[in-house]
Amino acid sequence: MKTQDIMARLQAKYPLEKEYLQAVQEVLESIEEVYNQHPEFEKAKIVERMVEPDRIFTFRVTWVDDRGEVQTNLGYRIQFNSAIGPYKGGLRFHKAVTPSMLKFLGFEQTFKNALTTLPMGGAKGGSDFDPVGKSNDEIMRFCQAFMLELWNCIGPDQDIPAGDVGVGGREIGYLYGMYKKLARQYNTGVLTGKGGTWGGSILRPEATGFGALYFTQHLLHKAGKSIEGKKVALSGFGNVAWGAATKARELGAKVVAISGPDGVCEIPGGITPEMIDYMLVMRASNRNKVQDMADKFPGEAIFTAGKKAWSIPCDIALPCAFQNELSEDDAKELKANGCWCCCEVSNMGCQPEAIHFFQHNGILFAPGKAVNAGGVATSGLEMTQNAEHISWSGKEVDEKLHFIMKSIHEQCVKFGTQPDGTVDYVKGANIAGFMKVAQAMLEQGTV
Ligand code: GLU
Repeated sequence: MKTQDIMARLQAKYPLEKEYLQAVQEVLESIEEVYNQHPEFEKAKIVERMVEPDRIFTFRVTWVDDRGEVQTNLGYRIQFNSAIGPYKGGLRFHKAVTPSMLKFLGFEQTFKNALTTLPMGGAKGGSDFDPVGKSNDEIMRFCQAFMLELWNCIGPDQDIPAGDVGVGGREIGYLYGMYKKLARQYNTGVLTGKGGTWGGSILRPEATGFGALYFTQHLLHKAGKSIEGKKVALSGFGNVAWGAATKARELGAKVVAISGPDGVCEIPGGITPEMIDYMLVMRASNRNKVQDMADKFPGEAIFTAGKKAWSIPCDIALPCAFQNELSEDDAKELKANGCWCCCEVSNMGCQPEAIHFFQHNGILFAPGKAVNAGGVATSGLEMTQNAEHISWSGKEVDEKLHFIMKSIHEQCVKFGTQPDGTVDYVKGANIAGFMKVAQAMLEQGTV
């Protein structure tokens, strides 16, 4: 297998799918050497099969807004790979959603889910519906209309959607309500991220952020460092940033920046529990403005329009918002301001040039598919609880999440340790995830 040849073919076939091509290129570059040591993979055309989704559902979603006007959006579910388990992955509601974005996310999800140690295949879905400025009723009507199309493509042993950008507990509730009505079954395990009184797992809302910080702790420990007293800059203020800020604070770090599409809030004294709680209010308002934090906590949070979190001096950068949110220039600015570690919490949050810069300038870096896997891993734990008709305590879930993040870190170290003893976490995560899926595909024959 030659990465260049496969990429040339995919580029010719999908010339406009930039994010998808970027994600595939990163994985293929990492695995090429190992892959070529396995002629059986080449013979079974594992890579050629793995880069294409099993199937893609595209559907029209029509709903009525608060003014009585008819609105039409597009909905998608991409079932990417089911070699090691049923399709699993979130739904993204964002105005920029395209098939390319969901294909990249579904592809990444396949490897991420393999890293969790749990039996889950990869999928992603969503819509170009823009939640910004929508009322609660509009969100509900949209979710119901979306599920009207999706419900018979999913199932607890078939495909299990969850949240992602623009989809949290509220949306999962509305989606589940409509699913139940259509399926006429109480299939609790068909969605994860549910409410605590109807099958949701304790700690699922916190899990992506908590897991990211557990992973960061392991990475720092391996490098002979600790998180205590360190300054952390993170982007976004949604569910992932909220969980990350909570755990970072708990572990003794100081969160000095959060950000939004409108700019950055610098918090020189470190984020407080009141501010962390207020992030939830900001998310529920659908305003999508981080300036609201500065308005609520004048003097403590200082807003600058048009700036990113990466302009604030920090030790550790945690991108928690969107793909490609951290560019090479941002990476350079971070380094110039003293940053020495970046753990990607968003999916593909750093541009390839930024990763290259980090890796060649002694900045510790780990990719999203390892760092943020605690979210989907806890979804996997939710599925287990649902299948057994039980619920575990917060302590039990947290211990399992801890164990999973430790094991993901160990897999990265196993496959990513370089001759000089340092760990290439990108390589490690990609090879570990790939080997598991490839082996399963091989054993299941040409399907
Ligand atoms: N959207 C999250 C992710 O990117 C969670 C998916 C899930 O829980 O299924 O992994």
